[in-house]
Amino acid sequence: MGRLLIVGSVAFDAIETPFGKTDKILGGAAPFIALAASKFNVESAIVSVVGEDFPQEYLDLLSNNGIDISAINIVPGGRTFFWRGRYHNDLNSRDTLETQLNVLADFNPIVPEQYRDSEVLMLGNLNPSVQLSVISQMEVKPKLTVLDTMNFWMDNALDELLEVIAKVDVITINDEEARQLSGEYSLVKAAAKIHAMGPKYIVIKKGEHGALLFQNDEIFFAPALPLKEVFDPTGAGDTFAGGFSGYLAKTQDYSFENMKNAVVQGSNLASFNVEKFGTERLLNLDPMTIYRRLEQFKKLTQFDIELS
Ligand code: AMP
Repeated sequence: MGRLLIVGSVAFDAIETPFGKTDKILGGAAPFIALAASKFNVESAIVSVVGEDFPQEYLDLLSNNGIDISAINIVPGGRTFFWRGRYHNDLNSRDTLETQLNVLADFNPIVPEQYRDSEVLMLGNLNPSVQLSVISQMEVKPKLTVLDTMNFWMDNALDELLEVIAKVDVITINDEEARQLSGEYSLVKAAAKIHAMGPKYIVIKKGEHGALLFQNDEIFFAPALPLKEVFDPTGAGDTFAGGFSGYLAKTQDYSFENMKNAVVQGSNLASFNVEKFGTERLLNLDPMTIYRRLEQFKKLTQFDIELS
């Protein structure tokens, strides 16, 4: 079993969906990633930063799920990163109403000694400068480095982001962001352009329309499970990334074939995450329920056509 090092925002989120509203709940890329990856019982640690206003209860919640939180830096007197978003009625698109970087603005990450040779490095959404610093602190090059990012960093730190992109094996990105990054509308053309920026594998997430995995001319598609109700899509992308990287850390097989399974595992966990606000569903999810839904995924995509 490989160790998984996770870098990403740890946040307060305030979310509005057509079904309700929350004020300052646990959010951020890293908690979603780590909670999803914890379903594979991998040894994992989060490198991140919070302010003094961050409740101990949230930290306990992460460590109670087997996640090493010793590298989450608590800044005395500091305020935690805050994000406010509002979803449109289709729940596929959202507006960011507020982003307060707070302690994330000048975070200097320190990778714990025992994680400097982690097999898998998951660079979750946060400043590309922090992601670069973490890459440079790895004493042994990880077997797999996965990057997740968002339009905010394309708008605000594109040069540094391109530097990170050049150094990773896999990038996971949503369709809109892939178009913004590449300047191409066709996702096939976009993937080819992003390929040329560095990553060997490109995963393009399309929300309720599933995810595409590209390697050169090979393409794999996994649908999203059609759900009766979607309550809150926040963190679906991060949950996907956590399921994807957690599964690969567990199996330690980084081939394209196994990445297809990782895409399905990520999609499976993301399908749960959207059923409740924030991390609530991930926190109450047992292995049998995950297994059953994987069976549903298999049924959804299997067919037996005769090619003649
Ligand atoms: P997702 O829905 O997977 O795109 O991720 C939503 C999470 O990303 C929320 O929990 C936010 O706290 C976090 N987030 C939003 N904007 C940023 C940002 N600019 N940098 C890092 N994390 C962010």
